[in-house]
Amino acid sequence: MEEAMGNEKDLLFEKIKEAELVLVGIGEEFGETIANGKILPQFEEYCQSIEKNEGLRWMLPYLEKMHEDSMRTEKTVKAYETLEKLLKDKNYFIVSTRMDDYIYQTKLKAERIVTPCGGYRFWQCQDGCGKHLYQVDGHLFEKIYESMVGKGSKTESGSIDVSNSESARMDGNQDKIQPPRCPKCGKNLVFNNRKAEHYVEEGYLEQWNKYMRWLQGTVNKKLCVLELGVGMQYPTVIRWPFERMIYINEKSSLFRVHSKLYHLAEEIRGRGYKIQEKPIDFLVNWFV
Ligand SMILES: [Zn+2]
Repeated sequence: MEEAMGNEKDLLFEKIKEAELVLVGIGEEFGETIANGKILPQFEEYCQSIEKNEGLRWMLPYLEKMHEDSMRTEKTVKAYETLEKLLKDKNYFIVSTRMDDYIYQTKLKAERIVTPCGGYRFWQCQDGCGKHLYQVDGHLFEKIYESMVGKGSKTESGSIDVSNSESARMDGNQDKIQPPRCPKCGKNLVFNNRKAEHYVEEGYLEQWNKYMRWLQGTVNKKLCVLELGVGMQYPTVIRWPFERMIYINEKSSLFRVHSKLYHLAEEIRGRGYKIQEKPIDFLVNWFV
């Protein structure tokens, strides 16, 4: 088993090396499983009390985002570092359905990334009015965090880490924080991602069009496609179009990494390699 995995990595390395273009798809399984599958109890308690208060409910996505960021470990960092090394000096494009935005903190080039599900970098009106996007003010995260754990509770690095929120409580300070408002209609601004009721797709369309143009350039080219943890959540975004591409392009190859949904359709089996593993485990510590 160990040896087989090694061979797949060597093969992928070779295929990427000889490829003219490399396409990467990142999906829902490209994340870390939270220990015991549970969120921090003190944090959960706090979220529950926020949820009961209609006037504060707008804070929940901020808290969820802070929680997700706090749970990320070196593993994710290292997995992306492997990706950076594999794609260095290559003509690549990355499509990711993840919403955690971590990819934008890596050395991967933002102009070669599209995240069609959006994330937490921009706000939009909850009604989507004007299809306008607004840069998220990170201070609001800090304010919410401080209202939860008290002032001066930041970690030494200055980063927000909810795993330190042992003293999370409702002390009335929460009411003083106002949600951001739409300058056009005065309703709340929400994060520009798929969870928004009226998702403003303009947040990613420009990159998507760039991606479509890039794809046109893959015709008859040596194309290596790497699919990392792409399941059936949004199959029309990555999985199915990738399969079609592999089917049409005789010079292409596909590496599908997934712990469960690693199977390949009959028609592309000759050009595909299935790797039954969690994508982060597959990539982590590769070049150490
Ligand atoms: Zn509005």
